[in-house]
Amino acid sequence: MIDADGRRRLEQSKTEIELLTDQVAEETAGAQEVLLADSQADPIDAAQAVLDREASQEVLAVLALQREQLERATLRAAEGSYGRCEDCGSVIDPERLRVAPEATRCVPCQARADRSPYGKTL
Ligand SMILES: [Zn+2]
Repeated sequence: MIDADGRRRLEQSKTEIELLTDQVAEETAGAQEVLLADSQADPIDAAQAVLDREASQEVLAVLALQREQLERATLRAAEGSYGRCEDCGSVIDPERLRVAPEATRCVPCQARADRSPYGKTL
């Protein structure tokens, strides 16, 4: 089950991730504009801008995954199954939920899922 504190942490994490996503997306767009606006741009600057953009896209992909995971945890809170591992059904360590409110698996199950190529989608 989830308590008021847990709910607040879930909401807070969601807000933080949304802010970060906006921030990274904005910075990526900014870097692209500079590059496109200046056709005489130094090739090293241009290469750096491409690398920055790729790095930002990776960050955005990670943020999207985190957001998805938070949505899942929120859904489980609504169903009343929050705090229980979705794989083995055991109670997730409250300390783990304090630092990772989006967790829907206990530590051993999460470690197994991370090792599996299908773990992220199961
Ligand atoms: Zn488990």
